[in-house]
Amino acid sequence: MNAVIHIRPEDTSGCTDAPVLKERGQREVFCGLTGIVWLHRKIQDAFFLVVGSRTCAHLLQSAAGVMIFAEPRFATAIIDDRDLSGIADANDELDRVVTRLLARRPEIKLLFLVGSCPSEVIKLDLSRAAHRLSGRFAPNVRILNYSGSGIETTFTQGEDACLASLVPELPAPTDNAAQLMVVGTLADIVEDQFKRLFDELGIGPVSFFPPRNSRSMPPVGPNTQFLLAQPFLADTARALQERGARHIPAPFPLGAEGTTLWLQAAKRAMGGDAARFASAVGPRRERAARALARHRTLLEGRQVFLFPDSQLELPLARFLSRELGMKLAEVGTPYLHRAHLAAELELLPSGTVLSEGQDVERQLDRCRALQPDLVVCGLGLANPLEAEGLTTKWSIELVFTPIQGFEQAADLAELFTRPLVRRTKLAA
Ligand code: SF4
Repeated sequence: MNAVIHIRPEDTSGCTDAPVLKERGQREVFCGLTGIVWLHRKIQDAFFLVVGSRTCAHLLQSAAGVMIFAEPRFATAIIDDRDLSGIADANDELDRVVTRLLARRPEIKLLFLVGSCPSEVIKLDLSRAAHRLSGRFAPNVRILNYSGSGIETTFTQGEDACLASLVPELPAPTDNAAQLMVVGTLADIVEDQFKRLFDELGIGPVSFFPPRNSRSMPPVGPNTQFLLAQPFLADTARALQERGARHIPAPFPLGAEGTTLWLQAAKRAMGGDAARFASAVGPRRERAARALARHRTLLEGRQVFLFPDSQLELPLARFLSRELGMKLAEVGTPYLHRAHLAAELELLPSGTVLSEGQDVERQLDRCRALQPDLVVCGLGLANPLEAEGLTTKWSIELVFTPIQGFEQAADLAELFTRPLVRRTKLAA
């Protein structure tokens, strides 16, 4: 069995100080409401009430798909013309909607009032509304608020805003024991795999935030160290740090290498046995690397262009270049958090073109000029680029699909090989 896996020195040239092209033009990104799609599946007794327009309702319906077998745990309280013109008191309407909802759905234990562009425009104070309604419905139902508006948030920032609103609700620990918290929504199957791995490594106690049930909020305090599972949680991390918790710097658990380094960071912070680490992680890493090999033959040497969308772009670029041999044409991200992404920047090939924010027309021009083999972008850009002959991957799929950990490494690679294979078949 190999000992603990280290980064090869020749791979660490990195992009830590690389210049970043900062763009502040028009952007083509979903708003933060999209996060409700994966958050409502995760916290199983929570309900997300968007206070918004019909557009918001349509966005949620189409992003969540139509395959709803149980009563949905999200809805939109529509702000209509009467509210907008000030004829009706939107607060009274909201109180009525919430009262009706909670009477009909007694299983709801946590209710989020989610702000949108329209609620911001009419300056509806949802934090006051949440406070007022909590007074009526606590302790049976906790009512919180956050903003998913397109004015304030992009795509994955909705999860950040949601989790940051939950941090003040986390209990203090009952003892001084060191504990690890994994922060960021992971599919249940991935969470279970990581739980088993941490058990095998002898690292614990470990909690996951957000939890599956609002009644089992993990404790947080000065003896909590947290490991981010998602790269878009700046406000949540800050809120946890204000409660005394410490961030463990690490790359993100994408691919065999990323997962190994993420676990290694946890072991370093929490203490752990090197032999135990090697026997638990080594075979899993080798299996994942073997599963990646067949995807590497399809992707190696091909050029990929990543438009800014989910903030997953840097970890994905690292995975695509180091584990699959792809060439990085440009790596865009809506927001570059240098501290949280420091380990990722170190692992990117030196000279990688990085961009932050967006000026969509200029970025499209750069992309067209480069004619990459694969473009990772939002839905709005994918169809026009496909029509121009480029091959695209919808970045939204990378957020909806379980992609973290050893067992998912090949599934993640397949998300990139599939569009190329499809294009080859169509051409044939
Ligand atoms: S919150 Fe704003 S950007 Fe998002 S769907 Fe509603 S109106 Fe559109």
